[in-house]
Amino acid sequence: MSDVCQSCGMIMEVNNYGKNEDGSENKDYCRYCFPNGSFGKNETMEEMIESCIPFRINDTDCPDEEVARRKMMDYFPNLKRWRKIT
Ligand SMILES: [Zn+2]
Repeated sequence: MSDVCQSCGMIMEVNNYGKNEDGSENKDYCRYCFPNGSFGKNETMEEMIESCIPFRINDTDCPDEEVARRKMMDYFPNLKRWRKIT
């Protein structure tokens, strides 16, 4: 099973894990979201979704912005970074 970034939903390969402050790998987040012991950008889930849209559009199941946005709106609240602790 592949690891998925718990912030942006990207599938992570060995060389794009995030980094903890001590230089070790952070396997919850990718290096774009978590480059150096903290989140690179402090943003809301909605802002993250908007910036991910161009990367999600593809020929198979995500033909346009609307579909991409809707899929992420369903999916992102399950990711660790955005999950509401109740
Ligand atoms: Zn990420």
